[in-house]
Amino acid sequence: MTGLRNGFAGPEPLRDDDATTALPPGRRTRQDLANGSGMAELHESIANLLASRGQWRQAYHHLRSALDLMSTADAPKVPEQLRHEVNRLRREHAEAREQSLRDSLTASYNRRYLDERLAALLTDHAGTDGGLAVALVDLDWFKQVNDTYGHLLGDRVLQRVVDLLQESLPTGAFCARYGGEEFVLVLPGIDPAAAVQVCETARLRVERFPWPQMAPGLRVTISIGLAHEHRAADSAPVSAEQQLISADALLYAAKQAGRNAVAYRVGSEVRLAGMTAGRRAAPRRASGY
Ligand code: GH3
Ligand code: MG
Ligand code: MG
Repeated sequence: MTGLRNGFAGPEPLRDDDATTALPPGRRTRQDLANGSGMAELHESIANLLASRGQWRQAYHHLRSALDLMSTADAPKVPEQLRHEVNRLRREHAEAREQSLRDSLTASYNRRYLDERLAALLTDHAGTDGGLAVALVDLDWFKQVNDTYGHLLGDRVLQRVVDLLQESLPTGAFCARYGGEEFVLVLPGIDPAAAVQVCETARLRVERFPWPQMAPGLRVTISIGLAHEHRAADSAPVSAEQQLISADALLYAAKQAGRNAVAYRVGSEVRLAGMTAGRRAAPRRASGY
């Protein structure tokens, strides 16, 4: 039951093959263990729910009971109805947690999820072999879209752009709404060239989408600032905030270069990706990237 060791994660089912190995031999039957485990799981589930509501003291008492039950042979059997009820609560809790991490308009992840996940990726190192790319995506001239076609259509454009951004993201990558008409693509474990490719493909997908089918004359493009970090094993991680600041500075470069562009850095040089690359050299700001 790794959940007990990992804080308030959900319980894992007892596996048949290891059902008796963790116990003093001869002290408990498999059935005893299953009963004790069932009750312990139940207490742990209740602890999870209480913890999610900030009721730490009660959560702690249930966890203690769960731990006690794991070391006793004659634990009572869990009534079936109670087990169902806890499972239902557990499901509802998982759904509520998922919803709290989503943006209600676009269903992409929200800022809260972004902050949590990015911080974890940067400190943890897990899944970031090869580097971590953070791309800040901003719709071009979006105020004009609202002014011309109305806010409701603007909302639909945002939803569609998110769909296009999320299409064929690499494994482990995700899209989050950063705020307003800005989104962040987080691409863990990716090398710089592949990250540029992902962003350029997304930019092209948005550019080529048949927008006039949504509203006559509508055209939508995006600009992207892509910051890639490759952390050496023994060096301190760049903070999420720092990487987002770098991406923001590059987004500014993409906008300055005429929009509908992906800007990224190679050493101290700022470059533009793909079809936009030859259009105009990225202007340098005095500082910031
Ligand atoms: P730029 O290319 O420089 O980014 O120009 P822009 O017009 O996109 O930038 P600006 O910051 O001037 O305008 C952003 C607009 O995005 C203004 C705001 O009303 C709109 N916006 C932000 N959030 C939403 C939303 O949820 N729905 C809609 N419809 N519009 C939104
Ligand atoms: Mg903006
Ligand atoms: Mg914009």
